[in-house]
Amino acid sequence: MRYCSVASGSSGNCHFVEAGGVRVLVDIGLGMRATEASLRSIGVHPESIQAIFITHEHTDHIRGVGAWARRYRIPVFATEGTWRSVNGNLGRMDPQKCYAIHAGKGYRMGMLRVEPFMIYHDAAEPVGYCFTWGEEKLVIMTDTGMVSQEMRAMFQGARIAVVESNHDIEKLMGGPYPWSLKRRIRSNIGHLSNEDCGHLLAELIPENPDCEFILAHLSEENNTPELALTTVLSVLQSRLGAGNYHVELTLRDQPTRMYSTEEEPCIGISMPI
Ligand SMILES: [Zn+2]
Ligand SMILES: [Zn+2]
Repeated sequence: MRYCSVASGSSGNCHFVEAGGVRVLVDIGLGMRATEASLRSIGVHPESIQAIFITHEHTDHIRGVGAWARRYRIPVFATEGTWRSVNGNLGRMDPQKCYAIHAGKGYRMGMLRVEPFMIYHDAAEPVGYCFTWGEEKLVIMTDTGMVSQEMRAMFQGARIAVVESNHDIEKLMGGPYPWSLKRRIRSNIGHLSNEDCGHLLAELIPENPDCEFILAHLSEENNTPELALTTVLSVLQSRLGAGNYHVELTLRDQPTRMYSTEEEPCIGISMPI
């Protein structure tokens, strides 16, 4: 299984996931052209994407979805609440290509299993995604104000986990945002702070020390990559002791490296996808 964060943060989110010959995107929060260019820069032809999964209706997750679906005529999956809330924001969509999915249910695309799971965010019916291919598992969880036991359980056995590390609490509270927005971000239906993320990882890592953790959805205004990483690592060190933790960062305006789980079985022929 391969994963790349194509873009991440308040200005646009997009994840690339590939396994067993199936290629999908989770969210297209950038414009279509920018997304195409970013995918090409990591060696992925836009035409090879077979489906789009949406987490929720906020613009930083859907900006390019409508244009992409029309151009490439691929199916788009979202929860019923998300479909209702995107309203006209996607433009004219082919109803034959729009599918409603449900949190807690599993779906299959070839050998790739997709399970949306409920998250806590100020959107109609937001979800995170868990992708499984054989023994390989990837979890994408951003835009959530808290993490329930059920959400935590999704990370069991994950090889790659994309986790929100949205803001530095001091930077947010001392920054220019109006009080109501600060309160919303810090609420149970807002976003995880760097510290929240550190504490979550401190619980997940002992059970899953080989998992690659990738910090995502960093706020432009209220965070920096350095702050996110140092805060998360200092929480880990204070709770778990000094160690070599597998924690990396997504970047706002450029794709991450291509992450790959264990070597995929080689059958001696290369298959065009
Ligand atoms: Zn959101
Ligand atoms: Zn977002």
